[in-house]
Parts: sequence; C-alpha cells; structure tokens
Amino acid sequence: MYKIIDGKEVSASVRNEIKAEVEALKNQGKKTGLAVVIVGNNPASRVYVNNKKKGCEEVGMESFEYALPEETTTEELLELVEKLNNDDAVDGILCQLPLPKQIDEKKVLNAIVPHKDVDAFHPVNTGGHIMIGDHSFLPCTPAGIMEMLKYYDISVEGKECVVIGRSNIVGKPMVMLLLGQNGTVTICHSRTKDLAEVTKRADILVAAVGQAYFVKEDMVKDGAVVIDVGMNRNAEGKLCGDVDFENVKDKCSFITPVPGGVGPMTITMLLKNTLTASKEHFNK
Ligand code: NDP
Repeated sequence: MYKIIDGKEVSASVRNEIKAEVEALKNQGKKTGLAVVIVGNNPASRVYVNNKKKGCEEVGMESFEYALPEETTTEELLELVEKLNNDDAVDGILCQLPLPKQIDEKKVLNAIVPHKDVDAFHPVNTGGHIMIGDHSFLPCTPAGIMEMLKYYDISVEGKECVVIGRSNIVGKPMVMLLLGQNGTVTICHSRTKDLAEVTKRADILVAAVGQAYFVKEDMVKDGAVVIDVGMNRNAEGKLCGDVDFENVKDKCSFITPVPGGVGPMTITMLLKNTLTASKEHFNK
C-alpha cells in the first residue's frame, strides 16, 4: 500500500519552526523582511507573488511588494535591485520570473547581492550548493523535496535516484542535493534513450518534465518513491502533475500528489532562506 507524501503537512511543520525563529529574532530587535518584485501583468506570477506575501504574513515576516509596469527596462529594474541591496529592512530579494522579454533576466538575477538571493539563482549560490557545505541558500523546489524525504524518514544514501528534467531551477540542483546525500544519481532529458529503462531502475524517481501525466506505470519500479514536481493543466483545465498518479500510485511506496505535494514546499523553503538571510544579517 502506498503512502502519500503530504506537502501541506510538511510545509506546516517547517513553517511553525520558521515562525518561532522569526518571533525570537523580533524579540531581539531584528525584523525579517522579504522584497517581492513583480514586473508586468502575468496572472500566474500574480498568484505566486500573492502566495509568497501570504506566506510571509503567516510566519511573521514583513513583505514589501514592488509592482513595476510591463514596459520596465533592464536599467530601471537594476536600479530597484540596487536600492533593495542597500536597504537594511530587506533581508531577501525575490524577483518573480518570468520577466518581460525586453529585460535581461540574467543581468538582473546576477545583480542581487548573494546574501539576499533567497531564490538561490546567483552564481555564487548555484556554485555554492555544488560545493557541498559551502552555501547559505538552497534552491527552493529541490530543497523542499529533500525536506519532505527527511520528514518521512526516506533515506537517500546508496539509493538509485533518477531525475527527469535538467532545468537550472529544478533538475540540475535536484541532482546535486541527492548526490550530497549519497544517492547514485542519473539525470534524464528529452534526448535520453530508452527513458523507461532508466526510470525503472529508480528507488527514488523525481519527475520535472512539465508534461501532464508523462510518467506511466511501466516507467516505475515496484516500491519506488515518486516525487512529482510538475504543475500542468490537463485537458479539462485542472491542475495536474507529470505523473499519471491514479495508475502509478499502487506501484509506489511513497508518492506526492498534485496539488498538495511539492508545490506548498517551494514557498516554505523561500521563507526558510529568508530566515537564514535575516539571521546572518543580524549576526554580522
Ligand atoms: P523546463 O521546461 O525548464 O524543463 C523540462 C525538462 O524536461 C527539460 O530538461 C526537458 O529536456 C525535459 N523533457 C521534456 N520532454 C521530455 C521527454 N519527452 N523525455 C524526457 N525529458 C523531457 O521545466 P522546469 O524544470 O522549470 O519545470 C518542470 C515542471 O515543474 C513544470 O511543470 C513546472 O511548472 C513545474 N515546477 C513546479 C514547481 C513547484 O513549486 N511545484 C517549481 C518549478 C517548476 P531538455 O532539456 O532536453 O529540453
């Protein structure tokens, strides 16, 4: 019988710990603040930003929203980033992606000072988590997955781990975190041959493909732990993952649902990174 990995439960537990630490810092005179920058009118981005602000409120952090018009230039955004870099009330800076086409995204992300880069996109931070132990912030979605594995006592050590997807945000950092916990890791992508042969080896299978119901039961080993990162819309417009949950679940020991699996953890890890930043700034 499979067990559901409940992202909402893990998230609530981590948020409680964060809340207590934010409160303790506040009692010592240090408020924790997150700047949330949104450019343009992307409705999905608006939902994410609202959820991030709500998350801040829930754990007692301040959030400062900067909503800029669609036609904002790279230079204008860089000016704002510079201002936030130098603002002592701001511990973390989050720039909601995607940015409008005319903006040089890389330039903007690289301009955020690494000690406020709570999304962990700056090269100092992406490089830092590859050098195990030398990092302040971990990329939020993969870090959330590691937190869920820990909560359910799922050990990675010596396990065959397969990650489908090699994006900079999910797939690649996921590999490094699993490796850091002594997993034997394989990464797959659109050019991988005989994908099902590879995924069937996995004790822990992470799907970050971006295609609804992509992982079918014949791709999964009996007793596997299946982590579904996907956030897709199916033909009826309903939110669904990359895993064909209904047909795959009975083969699994553990599986994450969509919604209610990886999704809630991502914002929670952003809050955790912001707390880390706040503690570091306080102790400076
Ligand atoms: P990307 O589109 O950047 O990457 C998708 C990856 O899947 C690519 O590496 C691609 O390979 C690979 N891929 C595509 N088709 C195949 C195929 N047929 N066989 C094998 N591999 C394939 O997506 P992201 O990593 O940004 O996101 C993945 C999913 O996770 C999306 O649904 C996204 O919405 C969701 N997501 C959810 C988050 C959450 O908080 N729950 C956070 C971030 C993302 P190639 O490189 O060769 O093109």
